[in-house]
Amino acid sequence: MHFVVCIKQVPETSDVRINPETNTLIREGVASIVNPFDMYAIEESVRMKEKLGGTITAISMGPPQADAALREAVAMGVDRGILLTDRAFAGSDTWATSYTLAMAIRKLGDVSVILCGKQASDGDTAQVGPGIATHLDLPQVTYVRRIDEMDESHIVAERMLEDGSEVIDCPVPCLLTVVKELNEPRLPSLRGKMAAKKAEIVHWTAADLGCEPSKTGLDGSPTKVVKIFTPPARAGGQILTGEPEEVAKKLVEKIRDAVIAAAHS
Ligand SMILES: Cc1cc2nc3c(=O)[nH]c(=O)nc-3n(C[C@H](O)[C@H](O)[C@H](O)COP(=O)(O)OP(=O)(O)OC[C@H]3O[C@@H](n4cnc5c(N)ncnc54)[C@H](O)[C@@H]3O)c2cc1C
Repeated sequence: MHFVVCIKQVPETSDVRINPETNTLIREGVASIVNPFDMYAIEESVRMKEKLGGTITAISMGPPQADAALREAVAMGVDRGILLTDRAFAGSDTWATSYTLAMAIRKLGDVSVILCGKQASDGDTAQVGPGIATHLDLPQVTYVRRIDEMDESHIVAERMLEDGSEVIDCPVPCLLTVVKELNEPRLPSLRGKMAAKKAEIVHWTAADLGCEPSKTGLDGSPTKVVKIFTPPARAGGQILTGEPEEVAKKLVEKIRDAVIAAAHS
């Protein structure tokens, strides 16, 4: 089987700072890491290979320094890393990113399972995984926290919901996005570290993928960012205490007072 894991290099902080003039992330002076959720996707791909055999390809779209993220994946047991890197990809929104990743997966050919993290810690949209499945017209299971069964033809996976969980029997090939409850990512072995050092990270450009120029980078991005800002911290709320009837009464009074105050302002 051929497993593909999509990994994104992100700033090593959740305290992302924005340049208010350009509306872009300030990356200078911030170290980069593999997106934390993608570590669980890498680990699961290695476990799948250990169980069912096959090969694992890690793919990332980003600047040349994202090679480091792919080497980390190789150190954990991934067979090879491919970096999609081209000036034509700059300014991609989630639609253009998932189109580009899907074009690379299509180029790979016989892919069985594509694994993505639930979301990236910087962009945070959780759209890229489902976007790839849409571009490739593949079934998907998102928020996977347990794999119950798996073979060449299907996967039975449990996905998290806000108020519980559900079990999906999904045909292969398919795409999964994974959450941190799925596994415990391993530390790279010495052998893995050596393999990562020696690994040749292949670079693919837009021309290598046969991308349509109107579908990549800024030109291929329907999202328009009007303004990015950090919302002001919320003032602390009020907690009403007492018996339920008493609390309900106090709440009604507060709402009534607020409505009256608003009407007179
Ligand atoms: C108009 C616009 C312009 C932008 N320009 C840029 C830009 O120039 N440079 C830039 O870095 N960002 C840019 N962004 C941000 C960019 O859209 C997102 O960072 C990117 O598309 C991924 O979305 P996300 O971070 O929300 O990932 P999510 O959808 O939250 O990620 C989910 C999963 O998808 C996979 N994944 C996501 N991104 C990648 C990737 N790049 N490679 C491999 N796997 C991935 C991972 O498995 C990840 O766990 C731009 C956004 C907009 C709206």
